[in-house]
Amino acid sequence: MNELEIITHTTEETMRLAEELAQLVRPGDVITLEGDLGAGKTTFTKGLGSGLGVTRTINSPTYTIVKEYRGELPLYHMDVYRLEDSDEDIGFDEYFHSDGISVVEWASFIEAFLPEKRLDIVIRAVDEHTRKITFYPRGDSFEKICEELAR
Ligand code: ADP
Ligand code: MG
Repeated sequence: MNELEIITHTTEETMRLAEELAQLVRPGDVITLEGDLGAGKTTFTKGLGSGLGVTRTINSPTYTIVKEYRGELPLYHMDVYRLEDSDEDIGFDEYFHSDGISVVEWASFIEAFLPEKRLDIVIRAVDEHTRKITFYPRGDSFEKICEELAR
């Protein structure tokens, strides 16, 4: 499977989709999220957190680049928007090779630091409540995850 496209019609539906994904990921997995402001990247991350059993409220990491949450697995939520045009390495490898799940908003800004094997997700706003969510699995294990999600 090269890509999987899923349309959601409400915020809750996007959260549920992310909760399903949370049941399929494994320690050390890296998920990237691309999409314009307001597309739903943070909303998707909230769903992932909920699926991982994170009880704290997940907010956009505006002042810090990485926020860490405790769930069944640690969740590292990164928003690297402010690293555009910078090649600063905030120690990405440690997160990407940890036992946690890393979620990176605006991941293209840190392309050079991303592992080859990962799940890339692009969210596009079609209208006020409709979102086109496309999953691009990079590596066999993520292809399997997408096949599961498609069921
Ligand atoms: P981003 O992190 O990409 O900037 P946010 O997740 O912070 O975006 O904001 C997305 C906004 O769009 C939220 O206010 C959310 O409630 C709204 N929204 C409306 N419909 C959807 C949908 N189908 N999926 C996700 N978010 C949606
Ligand atoms: Mg956001």
